Amino acid sequence: MARPHTKRDESLIAVPFQYAPFYVDSKHPIYTRPVIAHEYGHLVFNVNLNAGIKEINLKQVRNSNPDLDKTILPYEEFFADLISVVSLKDKNAVSNSIKFTRLFQFRNGWKFQAQSRAFDSRFRAKNFTADDAHALLSPTRQHIGKWYLNNIRYDSALPHVIPKVFDAVVSEIQARIADPSLKNLTPAEINQRLIAAIDLALEQSN
Ligand SMILES: [Zn+2]
Repeated sequence: MARPHTKRDESLIAVPFQYAPFYVDSKHPIYTRPVIAHEYGHLVFNVNLNAGIKEINLKQVRNSNPDLDKTILPYEEFFADLISVVSLKDKNAVSNSIKFTRLFQFRNGWKFQAQSRAFDSRFRAKNFTADDAHALLSPTRQHIGKWYLNNIRYDSALPHVIPKVFDAVVSEIQARIADPSLKNLTPAEINQRLIAAIDLALEQSN
């Protein structure tokens, strides 16, 4: 669930051992698949982000700049979760996998983390304060789940919603890299901005 490697390696997908496909009993596969999809989502994100932001060598900059890495990581975790829930066609796929372990030492505890990874949570952008990488964009997950991942739209999500959401994420990251005043936004502001960018990207394409 966390970033798989200390240095970004675009050729590897690391699966946390609790979900290892060949190391567990028969109850695990339904929880393992969302995690594998999530880790694959990290790969998709990094390959495309590096290609999408050409002005800088993003991979190199992130590895040497913890502040920038901290800014980008919530977008990456959010996008990896989106890949997972869309491919599993289940808004709670990632959330349920976290509930299953009860092991993760996430800030605020595994229950909160599981809730924050659901795409139908109770979290709204206004007044949202959790700022760890996995939870920060929880209100954006909720917004996408409500407005763009209705069951009827799942089939269009892979070709349509995911690329537009990615475009919105890239535009947000670029804006925040370019403008120092956007460096220290609150979690509420980060969610509000991304939700607005996603709505704009998807409305323009309809
Ligand atoms: Zn992750």
